[in-house]
Amino acid sequence: MPELPEVEVVRRGLERFVVGREVAAVAVLHPRAVRRQPAGAGDFIARLTGGRIEAARRRGKYLYLPLDSGEAVLAHLGMSGQLLMVPTEVDPQPHLRIRVGFADGDPELRFVDQRTFGGMAIESTVLDAGEPIPVSIAHIARDPFDPRFDDTEFARRLRHRHTGVKRALLDQSLISGVGNIYADEALWRARLHYARPTETLTRPVIGRLLASVREVMSAALVDGGTSIDRLYVNVNGESGYFDRALAVYGRQDEPCPRCGAPVRRDAFMNRSSYTCPSCQPRPRRGRW
Ligand SMILES: [Zn+2]
Repeated sequence: MPELPEVEVVRRGLERFVVGREVAAVAVLHPRAVRRQPAGAGDFIARLTGGRIEAARRRGKYLYLPLDSGEAVLAHLGMSGQLLMVPTEVDPQPHLRIRVGFADGDPELRFVDQRTFGGMAIESTVLDAGEPIPVSIAHIARDPFDPRFDDTEFARRLRHRHTGVKRALLDQSLISGVGNIYADEALWRARLHYARPTETLTRPVIGRLLASVREVMSAALVDGGTSIDRLYVNVNGESGYFDRALAVYGRQDEPCPRCGAPVRRDAFMNRSSYTCPSCQPRPRRGRW
């Protein structure tokens, strides 16, 4: 599943290739890809056609394109979605769900999604800090790269959660965009076990944790995003390769890059958590 760095790579691609262009033709090839559009594919096509794309933005893992109409295109890649810029004459690829053609010609935007957990919709917007954002995602917390992300407020709210630190990192109403892979990598860097109670975290430790989250995600951005899910391809059609640089995620029984202890895998919220048992000891009551 694409995580925040991959989605940011896609956003940058959209910024470069679709902003400022006028939509001339839209085709929906699978109704499931527009299931978030209450009035259906016809409504999606009608509200997008003729619109000019003003910007390419992101809130957590949601991408959105404000239009000159005051509405916005909302897109989520789901498990396997790809947004590809493709010359118009290229034959439709397997699992092509939506085509968006532009008045100025090539390239067109294609939404390809094998499992169809992702999709697109046209939504009305509300103003958030003076900028339009689709109504349905306005409640999602900002991510740690957002210039308006508030570290002090995050620390305050985190300490009041009374939950395990990884569970809190995955809570999109507290901090967005941190998925399972980057949570594990950041916790390893910060030497914190995933079950560490948030109320025991001091402000300096929370500062270290946020720095770790940002480091891990910055490294992923430089590398073009992970490709744990091989279906993921960025907007230019190139797979990311950050997975080579992962320290613990997906590396059960391999040596911890810091101390050499074998990496441990635990079941966690229907997924997995990877830790170094030596660098990230499990918290014991009363002893951190
Ligand atoms: Zn270690």
